[in-house]
Amino acid sequence: MDSILIIGAGAAGSVVAKKCAMDRDTFKKIHLASRTLEKCRKVQQDCKSEITISQIDADDTAQVIKLIEEQNPDIVVNMALPYQDISIMDACLATKTHYLDTANYEPKDEAKFSYKWQWAYQDRFREKGIMAVLGCGFDPGVISIYCAYAQQKLFDDILTIDIVDCNDGNHGKAFATNFNPEINIREVTQRGKYWKDGKWIEVDPLSVSCMVDYPEVGARKSFLLYHEEEESLVQNIRGLKQIRFWMTFSDNYIKHLEVLQNVGMTRIDPVIHNGVEIIPLQFLKTLLPEPSSLAENYTGKTSIGAILRGVKDGKKVSYIIYNVCDHAECSQEINSQAVSYTTGVPAMVGAKMVLKGLWSGKGVFNVEELPPVPFLEEVAKRGLPWTVKELKESDQKDLFSVVS
Ligand code: NDP
Repeated sequence: MDSILIIGAGAAGSVVAKKCAMDRDTFKKIHLASRTLEKCRKVQQDCKSEITISQIDADDTAQVIKLIEEQNPDIVVNMALPYQDISIMDACLATKTHYLDTANYEPKDEAKFSYKWQWAYQDRFREKGIMAVLGCGFDPGVISIYCAYAQQKLFDDILTIDIVDCNDGNHGKAFATNFNPEINIREVTQRGKYWKDGKWIEVDPLSVSCMVDYPEVGARKSFLLYHEEEESLVQNIRGLKQIRFWMTFSDNYIKHLEVLQNVGMTRIDPVIHNGVEIIPLQFLKTLLPEPSSLAENYTGKTSIGAILRGVKDGKKVSYIIYNVCDHAECSQEINSQAVSYTTGVPAMVGAKMVLKGLWSGKGVFNVEELPPVPFLEEVAKRGLPWTVKELKESDQKDLFSVVS
């Protein structure tokens, strides 16, 4: 078991390829395929050791099957877009090949972040004796694994989880998204949602905010969003009463987003423009900077963590488990910005866990269902160290008092 096929040569996929190429003991054969061959070629040139490349349209399952048959990988890592999840999973089933991704499937015409379509593959993956690892980026991904670690080592019962995600960096552009613009804007403009006492509670987009104190960054205004890992953590963390997700956005980002929304540029339904059907959000994506182009001169840090409250040995306890990642250091190491780095490194490490047999099983798994410790040890060695800190009663006051 030593061969990997990576699909998607964008911001995060290029990180997976470059990091795999720095670990040839594990990844003896690396193949990168994407829609635009030129992008694969650029990544190939930047890799520290040799990888092979090809062009593919991953929406077409037959093409993915053919490529898997040619390359014969032990695992396919899907770093394309959520729209391709199902066609790539189908190809993995047809060829009995393990599968891993970082974002859950979404139909193109509906921004509905849900695992239901991929969880429906459980029996088929089990019957074929292969595993699908879902959501192995940072959030979902490392954050979900922090929660699994907390459940195993720090708590008898976890009662509340607040996932707190801050990008305190500056890329110097008027408006740009740190990962695929289409997926980012679909995520941010959907209705907010959190889970409490067994029910999902919806709020208007970006209507709830509070101050969160981020390690190594400080207090930053953060907005309540719905994020896909909440759906699986609700199933997999015992005793949970509440889970929420918070993300920072600069005033500048919100100003631009508001205007784009008001003029209809974030619409995902087709409109006729000069007799041609276009999707406004897809056109906007074409105009915006590619997330993979932001690394140069990006300064500042990301600070992303899980704040957990619960009970251990009859006593109330609270922790934050977090990682801080510096944009400039990622750029210096592999010419990437921290948001793609924190997505790609976990995907590479997840693939390594499967190839080494440290994560094994038959069926479809969210990452928090798999052993957290070997993953966390390896992800720290590969550039994403993690810190566990106990919180005092007086910490994170604003966060704990809002909408709970
Ligand atoms: P990019 O837009 O930079 O990269 C996506 C790549 O996929 C592009 O190279 C694109 O090709 C390629 N692609 C798109 N459609 C196809 C297709 N049909 N066949 C083959 N290749 C295709 O996005 P990111 O790298 O920022 O994001 C990649 C994924 O990572 C997304 O699913 C995103 O949601 C996820 N993500 C997860 C995070 C986490 O923490 N879990 C955080 C950030 C991102 P082309 O260049 O030709 O358009």
